[in-house]
Amino acid sequence: MSDTQEKIKVLIIGSGPAGYTAAIYAARAGLNPVVYTGIKPGGQLMDTTDVENYPGYPKSITGPEMMTDFEEQAKRFGTEVRFGHVTKVEFSPLNHKITIDDSAVVYAETVIISTGASAKWLGLESEIRLRDMGGGVSACAVCDGFFYKGQDVIVVGAGDTASEEALYLSKLCTKVHMLVRRDEMRASKIMQERVKQAENIEIHWNTSTLEVLGESGVEGAKVKNNITGEESTIPVTGFFVAIGHKPNTDLFSDVLDMDDHGYLITQAGSTLTNAEGVYACGDVQDSIYRQAVTAAGTGCMAALDAERYLSQKEFEASQTTEKTEA
Ligand code: NDP
Repeated sequence: MSDTQEKIKVLIIGSGPAGYTAAIYAARAGLNPVVYTGIKPGGQLMDTTDVENYPGYPKSITGPEMMTDFEEQAKRFGTEVRFGHVTKVEFSPLNHKITIDDSAVVYAETVIISTGASAKWLGLESEIRLRDMGGGVSACAVCDGFFYKGQDVIVVGAGDTASEEALYLSKLCTKVHMLVRRDEMRASKIMQERVKQAENIEIHWNTSTLEVLGESGVEGAKVKNNITGEESTIPVTGFFVAIGHKPNTDLFSDVLDMDDHGYLITQAGSTLTNAEGVYACGDVQDSIYRQAVTAAGTGCMAALDAERYLSQKEFEASQTTEKTEA
C-alpha cells in the first residue's frame, strides 16, 4: 500500500449534482477541491434520458450531457477530478485519512460526502435492457412522468414512494396500474387511502412482474397472480419501478450516524455530520426530495460549511501563533 502523504483541503466523494456543485463552490473559494468520481461517474443522472425540470435548461438536456456540463464547470475553476473509488475512511479532525481503490492513501482537511443513493430494480433482463436504452423504464415519476402524458403506465411497489409515484402519475396519465406483490400495502395509511381513492389507479393485488414487453420501447408487462398462478398481460407504454432506494453508505457503517434506512444524518439546516469537518449532501442524506436540483442545493451548502470551518480553523491557528510570538 503506497502512502502519498498528499493533503487535500476539500475532498469530495461522489460525482453527481451534489458533488460537482460542492466542487464548483469550493473551487471558486480557492480551496482546490478534489473529486473522487466513484465507480459510476455522474451518478444516477447517467441513467436518465431527458431532464426537463432542472432550471437553466429550457430546451431540456440528457442526464449524461448535463453531468458533462457539471464536470466542465467544476474543472473550469480548478477542481481536480480523479477516477477512483473510496474504499476506506478514517475520520480525524483536519487529517482525514482516505483510501482509494484499496491502495492509494490521501489525507484531507475536510470531506464532503455525496455518494448518492441507488434505485432498487427488479432485476429482470427486459427491465434493465429497456431502462438502459431509455425505452420507458424509469425509477423517477417526477423526472420522466411527463413523457407519458395521456398514456397508461405501471408502477411496481407498495410503499410510500410507490404511492407517491402512482399519485403523481395519475394526474398526468390516463391510467396507472399499481402492481402490489402481497395482499396489503406497506405505505402509510393516509397514502394508501389516497391511492385507493384515485379513480384512475387500479391496484393489482398479489401481482408480480414476469417480463417487461417491448423491443425498443415498453409495450406492456407480463404479470402473474401470486395466489392463483394466472398469467396476464397489461398493455402500457411506461414502467415505473418504485421498490425503494438504497443510500450508498456502506463505507460509513459504524463511522457516521445514519437513520434506520441507512441515510446519513445531518444537523438540521446544515450539512454537518457527527464527524468534525465531514459534510454530507445530496441523496445520501435525503430520502424525501431526491431531485438533482435539491442535491445541487445541498452540495452548495456543504462547500460553504467546509469553507467556513476551514476559515475558522485558520483564524484559530493564527491567534495561537500570535500569542506564542507575543
Ligand atoms: P419501502 O421499503 O417502504 O417499500 C418498498 C415497497 O416495494 C414495498 O411495498 C415492497 O413490498 C415493494 N417491493 C420490494 N421489492 C419488490 C419486488 N422485487 N417486487 C415487487 N415489489 C417489491 O420503500 P419506499 O421507497 O417506499 O420508502 C422508503 C422509506 O422512505 C419509508 O420509510 C417511507 O415511509 C419513506 N418515504 C417517505 C415519504 C414521505 O414521507 N413523503 C415518501 C417516500 C418514502 P413488500 O411490502 O411486499 O416488501
